[in-house]
Amino acid sequence: MAPIIRCAIDNCKTTSVNKTPDVTFHRCPYNSEMSNKWLRVLKQRCTAFDSVDSKICSKHFELKYFDAQKKLKENAVPTLFSSASHSLSLRSIGKSDSGKTKIEKILNRMTQADLTADIKLNLAHLKEPMHLDSFVTDDLKCKSDAPNAANLWLMIKKQEHLNTRLMDLVVQTKKHVEILQKSMEESRLVKKEQEQNIESLKYIVKCLQEKQTTLEEQIEILTAVESR
Ligand SMILES: [Zn+2]
Repeated sequence: MAPIIRCAIDNCKTTSVNKTPDVTFHRCPYNSEMSNKWLRVLKQRCTAFDSVDSKICSKHFELKYFDAQKKLKENAVPTLFSSASHSLSLRSIGKSDSGKTKIEKILNRMTQADLTADIKLNLAHLKEPMHLDSFVTDDLKCKSDAPNAANLWLMIKKQEHLNTRLMDLVVQTKKHVEILQKSMEESRLVKKEQEQNIESLKYIVKCLQEKQTTLEEQIEILTAVESR
């Protein structure tokens, strides 16, 4: 019977016996640059890591480190060391909804307008602490003796301000896009007009060329007659 493989990461319970079929085990790379990267990361995560014998399971690698055949890429470095960090990486990849908190899932479904309206409504119900300004320093930080509510409100104010700026930016960008679209439309019209002009010029040139040939023929006939 083959010896049982255990993941070398502390706190990881994966073994070749209890693992699901999709989980694979990986040895430290031979390439010294890559193995140094691994060892630097694993130093704090493994009580004993042997670069030749130890293996770690695929749960510690982000999805981006696997190719289409689910083979670990050469540049792979383990970065995931707890169930929390694992789901975090899945979220950043954005491929699945699993691993997201309930709040995040709902937030993702809401439109910008719904969110803004909801925040406004909630803020209207909340009461700003008295003399909020007096708790804030000149570099926009809360003084150490400020109550919790002042801290929170300062943060809300900052967020709100940022939101206004972002909305302004959105409006500006929209305007820019409109201007660009308009000028694109205009240049398209100009191009069409120019194309029509070119066509009529071509026609005129063709007519003139024909006329020239008939004139040349006439001259030829005339000179032939004259020379008799
Ligand atoms: Zn593991």
